[in-house]
Amino acid sequence: MMEITDTIAAVSTPRGKGGIAVIRISGADAREVLSRVFAAGVSPAASARRAVYGKILGEDGGVIDEGIATFFAAPASFTGEDVAEIACHGGILLTEAVLASVFHAGARPARAGEFTRRAVMNGKMTLSAAEALGSLLDAAGAGQLALARGGMAGHLSGAVQALYDRVGLLLADAYAKIDFPDEDLNTKSTAELIAEIGEIGKAVEKLLATYRTGHAVGEGVRTVICGAVNAGKSTLYNALVGHNAAIVTDVAGTTRDILTETVPLGKVTLRLFDTAGLRESDDTVEKIGVSRAREAMKDAELVLAVFDASKEADAQACAFIAELQTLPGTVIAVLNKADRPVSFRRELLDGFAAVVTVSAAAGDIAPLREAVERLYLSDAISLSEDAVVSNARQYAALSRAAEALSRAETALREGVTPDAALIDAELSMAALGEVDGRAVDERIVENIFSHFCVGK
Ligand code: GDP
Repeated sequence: MMEITDTIAAVSTPRGKGGIAVIRISGADAREVLSRVFAAGVSPAASARRAVYGKILGEDGGVIDEGIATFFAAPASFTGEDVAEIACHGGILLTEAVLASVFHAGARPARAGEFTRRAVMNGKMTLSAAEALGSLLDAAGAGQLALARGGMAGHLSGAVQALYDRVGLLLADAYAKIDFPDEDLNTKSTAELIAEIGEIGKAVEKLLATYRTGHAVGEGVRTVICGAVNAGKSTLYNALVGHNAAIVTDVAGTTRDILTETVPLGKVTLRLFDTAGLRESDDTVEKIGVSRAREAMKDAELVLAVFDASKEADAQACAFIAELQTLPGTVIAVLNKADRPVSFRRELLDGFAAVVTVSAAAGDIAPLREAVERLYLSDAISLSEDAVVSNARQYAALSRAAEALSRAETALREGVTPDAALIDAELSMAALGEVDGRAVDERIVENIFSHFCVGK
């Protein structure tokens, strides 16, 4: 438990040459450490939350820079502990010298995500809000930003907390009746218990249903681009990625590696796996690429099947369409090269989740964006204003809650005595609690914060 109260420090701005850099110090000795490295007319600790100008002292006590320090007294700080922030000039060496001086004065290096972790432990932030903060820092597009803002605002936390409290009330009520059977308590009948558990279960299911959107925006849809050689897969990939990441070429079959990139498409996030052309080949290297492409298509949540609209469908195209129909993921047929006269018969593509006409070379892929947004977003869900389940951990915890509630409901309906049936209600409460870190396994917490950088 030592690590909880000791004083940590790190550079909280990105490493590199910048106008300023900020060194953050948090813990019981933050005030002390600050007073050793920062010399000013007024002590920043004596005027909390005010920016104070002063001189920054190096390890040997000599002045190495001048800057601004701000002190936040516990609990009114990011971590809930005493926090000091020193803004110095942003040179790499200079920043390291200030940090070294802070360590010399008694702080120890912070681990990845440790500031945020302390904020969670001190009740300044829920676990799901901390996850949202991590997503905010990593956001690749407008959808992810909105979702992260909503997560940090606590819409999911609030909704889950309300359900947690409802199960708690129900249990208290039921146990009062079990413990004091002779008292004339105004407790719920079994029928009322069943109805209440059913309603809570429905509310959990409703949250679970938001994960289709939350996953597509927050975690990203695992997407594969496939199609015949020269259909325009690399060109589409580049149009999506926005810079020339894939090798676009006129020579058939040269995109051999599976390239990957996370890109926003409208508000949805695609995790793109580009693939080699789906073509039988004698070239061994290319063959490897082709079999990997087939695997990737089977694993994909979303398949963008690219067709050259300027050509009539040949036998190979028909075989490809038949193969696409066997895939477990969602398939969007992308009729590319729409800037040319269209010869491809669109009816051949009936049955896919969507058929869109684009010109990848011209960067005209708006119809694809609209189709993807239609598939994964919902008018009923506002990313920044509603409770949205946005990662697998939250989804797993809520799924367990829903299952436990359903077991409790079934048991009560089948006439199992309430004390036995309510064990499942208790389990559902524990699972709901996990979303925001009540009794979450230490390894899970470790995993969440390990994705943060040092200084966050
Ligand atoms: P891949 O083999 O499927 O990856 O195809 P590429 O992306 O390498 O494209 C093959 C050829 O088609 C290239 O010459 C591209 O410039 C061309 N191409 C791709 N998209 C379009 C498009 O929308 N319109 C036209 N006219 N040509 C395109």
